[in-house]
Amino acid sequence: MKLVVLGPPGAGKGSLAMAIKAATGVAHISTGDLLREEMKNESDLGLEAKKFIDSGDLVPDELVTRLVENKLKSDSTLDKGYMLDGFPRTEVQAKDLNRILKGLEKELDYAIYLEASLPIILKRLTGRRVCRNCGALFHMTNKLPKQEGVCDQCGGELYQRADDNEETIKTRMDVYLKNTKPITDYYRGSGILKEIDGDAQTEDLQRVLTQIFDGR
Ligand code: ADP
Ligand code: ZN
Repeated sequence: MKLVVLGPPGAGKGSLAMAIKAATGVAHISTGDLLREEMKNESDLGLEAKKFIDSGDLVPDELVTRLVENKLKSDSTLDKGYMLDGFPRTEVQAKDLNRILKGLEKELDYAIYLEASLPIILKRLTGRRVCRNCGALFHMTNKLPKQEGVCDQCGGELYQRADDNEETIKTRMDVYLKNTKPITDYYRGSGILKEIDGDAQTEDLQRVLTQIFDGR
């Protein structure tokens, strides 16, 4: 199964991706996670990307596309399938991805489009906490960890992303509407778009997954 997951920040792309990974075993590639890893390692690419990420703007297409292309080419675990989360985010990226995947004979099966409303997005993102070690997601009201500040899965430290503040979230939302929303039409045109209501709670994901994979 080869998928991309599209949707506004806070629609639950990361949670859906993790549920799909648990259900199907396909690898989860998040460009946000890849970029945060580069920033943590203070690589040239990470340092270059940081200024865009901290302000909520998109990292330039060629940097992100290079990161994804390297991953797709070098990671043999992806032969079983993969799910791209947070990429593509612009029409240029969508077209480049198509070209890269054609070359690798790993073309997409579906593009999953997760829609969510602004009040829900704001609440999800401002309360979000992430495990520094394994990337697991928690929430200050919706999904509290058993012990404050500590990951249930690995005991790692939970933190709040620097870009999960109201001002940066608004910028990310504007960027999404301008650059990313239009590419849903691109995938609708190729007949592989599957739409999902992102306002639904995580518990409904099982139903959603069945809908995607059995309802074809
Ligand atoms: P979210 O989906 O919650 O906004 P991500 O973790 O996917 O967060 O991305 C965080 C930031 O990383 C984005 O705001 C953007 O600056 C950068 N980024 C991630 N993926 C891409 C991409 N495909 N193209 C450009 N920038 C990206
Ligand atoms: Zn963890």
